Amino acid sequence: MSIITISGVKKSFSKNNYALKGIDLCIDQGDMVALIGPSGSGKSTLMRHISGLTLADKKTPSSVSVFDTPIQLQGKLHKDIRRSRARIGNVFQQFNLISRLSVLTNVLIGGLSRVPTYRSLLGWFTDAEKQEALNALDRVGLREFALQRASQLSGGQQQRVAIARALMQKAEIILADEPIASLDPESSRQVMEILQDINIKDGITVVVTLHQVDYAQKYCQRAVALRQGEIFFDGRINELSRVQLTQLYGTQQQNQR
Ligand code: ADP
Ligand code: MG
Repeated sequence: MSIITISGVKKSFSKNNYALKGIDLCIDQGDMVALIGPSGSGKSTLMRHISGLTLADKKTPSSVSVFDTPIQLQGKLHKDIRRSRARIGNVFQQFNLISRLSVLTNVLIGGLSRVPTYRSLLGWFTDAEKQEALNALDRVGLREFALQRASQLSGGQQQRVAIARALMQKAEIILADEPIASLDPESSRQVMEILQDINIKDGITVVVTLHQVDYAQKYCQRAVALRQGEIFFDGRINELSRVQLTQLYGTQQQNQR
């Protein structure tokens, strides 16, 4: 069953300069998809269309739907977007935690859309919610860091907190934009393993942009490769040939690997 459906999405930031040149893409429930491609190919822009943070050009017919609910139609945000957004967890390259708050509070914030407004305004959480947040921290191996300030954690640990926050949110889809771009290999491995674990055990659909193909090959079955705003490849990642990789990245990526 398709959980994310993108059709006809074009996006230009300036005249005749398209970041996305007409994207059609379906992602099935329970998939773990790597969105790959060189820098500037449109990966982040496409991710932002799924959350409704960027709107497609209005001139062409287009739609982005999540769970059969439109996020945007013809470049206009759907009025009922809050409910759909609550089902999407975002993990970004820049660990977007609130650095002066505790790790636990950062995780609890993920559940804010589920608590009554007065409590969310006051930042009151029940013991059951705190327990749930601790369980989420357990899943990412950081329970013992619960009371530390987020800023005291390493980059990789902060990224894992962001994943725990998405678990607390009960996100059904996680969009992770370059979650390991600024991490060392060991932290990268941990973050990718956690994404894989919640994909398999919780059935959360994961879309992860990666500029390193090797991590995509290791952790994802399906790859969608963008090149200059177009889908260059969509299929099983082990069917992506060396020739296609060179076409995609030039010789640069090959040398890096
Ligand atoms: P990627 O994530 O694959 O590196 P992006 O989606 O960030 O690629 O960018 C795709 C293209 O769109 C690039 O040419 C980039 O310069 C352009 N672009 C992205 N966001 C903006 C923006 N807010 N304003 C102007 N140009 C943008
Ligand atoms: Mg990007």
